[in-house]
Amino acid sequence: MTGSFEDIKELVRELHQKYASFTEGTVASYIPELAKANPNHFGISVVDIDGEVFEIGDCSQKFTIQSAINPIIHGLALEHVGPDTVEHRIGLEPSGNPFNSISLAERTRGPENPMINAGAICLTDMIRGENPTQRLSEVLSAVERYAGEELGVDMLVYSSEKLTGHRNRAIAEFLVNFGLLHNPPEQVLDLYFQQCSISLNCTQLATVAATLANRGLNPRTGILAVAPDYLRHILSVMFSCGMYEITGQWAYDVGLPAKSGIGGGLFAVVPGCMGVAVYSPPLGRGGATARGVKVLRELSDRLNLHLMSARHGDFHRNSDPEP
Ligand code: GLN
Repeated sequence: MTGSFEDIKELVRELHQKYASFTEGTVASYIPELAKANPNHFGISVVDIDGEVFEIGDCSQKFTIQSAINPIIHGLALEHVGPDTVEHRIGLEPSGNPFNSISLAERTRGPENPMINAGAICLTDMIRGENPTQRLSEVLSAVERYAGEELGVDMLVYSSEKLTGHRNRAIAEFLVNFGLLHNPPEQVLDLYFQQCSISLNCTQLATVAATLANRGLNPRTGILAVAPDYLRHILSVMFSCGMYEITGQWAYDVGLPAKSGIGGGLFAVVPGCMGVAVYSPPLGRGGATARGVKVLRELSDRLNLHLMSARHGDFHRNSDPEP
């Protein structure tokens, strides 16, 4: 990484201005409530591992987290049932398919990875709790630990997805057929739809990213969001599968673990350094915010953030690399 927080701010300001007029992409409409999003909304937030925040644009606009919650659910499932069970039920290979594909891995007969819907629904099934209310509260408190603020479920988006989520219902039934769900599918789906409908803003999403960059410790609250041992599991899956069918290109161009959601939120993690989030509802390939992909690509390029071009020690911005 090259540059101070001041340089980052200046570049982010420039990129916000540059891409404000970029109009590619289409707002998601298969969940009818999401189609109401304003395509002009555009925010970029950066939170570093000292908890310093820089935001520009529509950073207090709330939106639903959608699949950008999957790394958090992954961490929670790892804590609740342990890595062996998670790895036994869900694969670790990028599928190259869209997030909502109704398919299982040939070899394992389980979801290809924890980021596609089938894998995410399977993870949701692993969340422990006496009853559905307790399981929702486990999920909500986890997201709050990462985001550092109190959050809630957007009931309109939740009802809209519940009403029209036939494809996810098909995925859940498919999982039942292979013995991969342990709870009743309607219950699992209900929690899945609620977790996708948790609403937050761009800076809260960047705080999620910064927490992942800071070994699970939220840099703004000092609260541990997830056991540090699981960071490598979470981040490597984000790196190999987080952007669905554009993950390979993303890894090549941007070189950072990242996660998109069809609500228009996208976050990337610069381990040991900072988290960045972009909010802009029009989506491009892979169901990722079109502006967000452009911004992060240029940000990574200009700040030299690509993990494969980093020298060991580059990401400790507060201390000089070891001699
Ligand atoms: N709730 C959405 C769905 O299941 C999440 C998809 C996404 O954000 N990629 O279809």
